[in-house]
Amino acid sequence: MPGTQSSYDVIVVGLGAAGASAAIEARAAGADVLVLERASAGGGSTVYAAGHIYLGGGTRVQKLNGFDDTPEEMFKFLMASMPVPDPEKARVYADDSPAHFDWIERQGIIFNNGFYAEKHFEHDTEEGLAWTGNEKAWPFSTAARPAARGHKVTLPGGVTKSGEGGSHLVNTLIDRARAAGVRLEYDARVLELLTENGRVVGVRYKQFGKESVATCRRGAIVATGGFGANKAMVKKLCPELDSEAIYILGAPYADGSGIELGLSAGAATGYIGAFATAPLYPPANLLKGILVNKFGQRFINEDTYHSRSCTACLRQPEGVAYLICDNAVFARPEFGGQPLVDAWEDVAAMEAALKMPAGALQKTMADYNAHAATGNDPAFHKIKEYLQPLMEAPYAALDCSLGKAAYTGFTLGGLKTTKDGEVLGMSGRPIAGLYAAGACASNIAQDSMGYASGTCIGESTYFGRRAGRRAATH
Ligand SMILES: Cc1cc2nc3c(=O)[nH]c(=O)nc-3n(C[C@H](O)[C@H](O)[C@H](O)COP(=O)(O)OP(=O)(O)OC[C@H]3O[C@@H](n4cnc5c(N)ncnc54)[C@H](O)[C@@H]3O)c2cc1C
Repeated sequence: MPGTQSSYDVIVVGLGAAGASAAIEARAAGADVLVLERASAGGGSTVYAAGHIYLGGGTRVQKLNGFDDTPEEMFKFLMASMPVPDPEKARVYADDSPAHFDWIERQGIIFNNGFYAEKHFEHDTEEGLAWTGNEKAWPFSTAARPAARGHKVTLPGGVTKSGEGGSHLVNTLIDRARAAGVRLEYDARVLELLTENGRVVGVRYKQFGKESVATCRRGAIVATGGFGANKAMVKKLCPELDSEAIYILGAPYADGSGIELGLSAGAATGYIGAFATAPLYPPANLLKGILVNKFGQRFINEDTYHSRSCTACLRQPEGVAYLICDNAVFARPEFGGQPLVDAWEDVAAMEAALKMPAGALQKTMADYNAHAATGNDPAFHKIKEYLQPLMEAPYAALDCSLGKAAYTGFTLGGLKTTKDGEVLGMSGRPIAGLYAAGACASNIAQDSMGYASGTCIGESTYFGRRAGRRAATH
């Protein structure tokens, strides 16, 4: 039992980006808040994150860099990025995005004013704005006016290395929650949601070997992160990641316990998908190559965001795909994920070595080259910037196949929620006193094909805040 008190207005389960944001807002709304965190320190999978946050609609940094983004354009983009679009959530997220950016800054997070214009999966210089999604690629470019929306947390001292941005962000939020008077309890694993007449009224948890009960007068917010560390759950709910050849990223306690807690209280699940990637770029020049499957056929515009092109590779027959380059565009991907198969003096030799049907790759390349020479890609609409005939021997193949390239991933989605984080039951009605936010809930980040870097932390913090406010005031 934390101290002598065991009754609170709001209990938050899990202290990552979503739990910290929910706790800050619930406290700001006047609630007495307890956070129970299973690990010995908060942070969860958020500490692994680069620290991109997907925000737009006219943020301070967007305006400084000449982007005339609007909530309406952001809304259209988000709608195009979801396999099962949720107009209500996309609308509030886009409309409130500039104000949410300001809120994050007010918590003590700095976003450098600069803009990183190159295509990169995770730039390690300090610019606070970058292209981190499919905005400029077809078909997204036809759905909404492209704008850079990937806001990158800046560390004191400047340069942000991978992982440090997320860690800085979540630790700053945790400090704010603590300073605001939120009670934080560590090594406290929530085992059960307690209900009375269909309402969640508390939790049973274990701390240092001792089981205790804490009750909540207004609600419990589940913010326990994803479920990548739970193999059985991945197999059942996220089969796209169920492969020894995909390394699952994230914290050890991202084991879906919050989703199971919700299910035990009668919750429904929403859209559940996967994020998977082995970034092909930088260098962006590599995107002038073409992706082909084992039949020598192209299947996507290569200039899309990396998780989209990579997931398209994984979905090819037998998961076999190659990035074909000529001497003019060849480079080793900086991420280092795609081994070089070999290089050949002509396309016919490459086609034979890759065991493709005779003539197939030669035809694909001849068609591609003829159109690229006129700045067109009628088959897949790659943008002009990356169109260049592949004519200069030797020709190389980088292996993007499952089991060959270094794929990594994490789960997306979980409990079904309203825009205010209320968890929905099988009947479609909210379960009284139960809320969820972050990677254990289904929101805007739905799958690899539409994902933009920063959407997870963006929605974890934003919908976490909404859940905190709602729980505190209802
Ligand atoms: C390598 C990597 C890079 C990423 N980069 C980005 C990025 O740049 N931008 C972006 O938007 N997203 C990124 N993501 C995704 C993003 O980090 C997560 O989706 C997001 O941080 C999830 O936040 P959360 O608060 O929901 O969960 P978490 O941060 O995982 O926090 C959940 C917390 O709940 C605790 N917990 C679990 N079960 C219990 C229980 N039963 N009782 C008590 N506590 C419990 C856990 O210990 C954990 O501390 C990245 C992910 C990874 C793995």
